[in-house]
Amino acid sequence: MNDRIFGNEQVISTMEAMAASGRTAHSIILYGEKGTGRRTIAGYYAQLLMCRDKRDGKPCGVCPTCRTIAERNNPDVLYPQHSGKLGGYSVETISNVARDAYVKPNNSSGAKVYIFTDCDNFDIRPQNKLLKLIEEPPDYAYFIFTARARAAFLATIISRCVCFGVSPCTESETEEALELRGTSPEDIRRAVDCFHGNIGRCLDYLSDEELRSRVDLTKSLADSIIRRDEYSLNSIIFPVSRERRDCREVLAMLDLLVRDAAVLLKSPTAPVIGCYREGAQQLARKLTARQAILIHNHIERAKRAIDSNVSMPLVLAALCADIMDT
Ligand SMILES: [Zn+2]
Repeated sequence: MNDRIFGNEQVISTMEAMAASGRTAHSIILYGEKGTGRRTIAGYYAQLLMCRDKRDGKPCGVCPTCRTIAERNNPDVLYPQHSGKLGGYSVETISNVARDAYVKPNNSSGAKVYIFTDCDNFDIRPQNKLLKLIEEPPDYAYFIFTARARAAFLATIISRCVCFGVSPCTESETEEALELRGTSPEDIRRAVDCFHGNIGRCLDYLSDEELRSRVDLTKSLADSIIRRDEYSLNSIIFPVSRERRDCREVLAMLDLLVRDAAVLLKSPTAPVIGCYREGAQQLARKLTARQAILIHNHIERAKRAIDSNVSMPLVLAALCADIMDT
């Protein structure tokens, strides 16, 4: 059977309606946070295009086509390779896809689907090359793109795609999804406390020790800010400067926590989106709304500096000083 898709009912029912009416879009963009199921939904769309045994307008989930798509092992559902440090797609990759797209599919359903995952760093040149392909694709070729935001794409690409926003589920849906996978109630609680309705991130949290330590580190940073302990803030943040990816992720989680504090200042029982509710509550007691916004701005600036290759120890030292001066 297929992995059940939690939440995003509207996206799924629109796709099913497209398939039922025979008006499936050749190019779609699925945008939303990582972990919200963009790739699973992309696979579901491929099944809708290719399953020959649909029931009530849904792919059967058990035929060889559905199964191989779910296992990411279907010769006509292709995942072009990322390239380069930032993980974009190269002009060469797009040229290869363009050539391959004119080779007819193997399967009897007559569709060939290309799923471009994580298009967040898609350069303009390859996108322009891609544009030519999606403007006039062979009638059996489909293109699915996933990214954090629609803004990752050129307006000319967006105008030729049907765009679907993919959202996190509710916490109780996430609990159910984790329970179905045999996760213990204690682990479910720990994961959902950090990543709420984002099933993918909850699963990462449970399986990835490095992510757990980045969460712990973010919590310690928040504790240092709460205590206004500059020495501890500096010494905790320093090891993060070794890895750009760690640095980005920790700053993003810290930013969510500060955002939570700003929200809790206004409504103390509001739901949080960050990984540390108690920390956000304590911060809300220490900061004014203006200070929370200033800290958010400092973190944003640090994130931009890190993306533009400024020395990370320098950025983080400046960030600690800015936070303490707030
Ligand atoms: Zn099927």
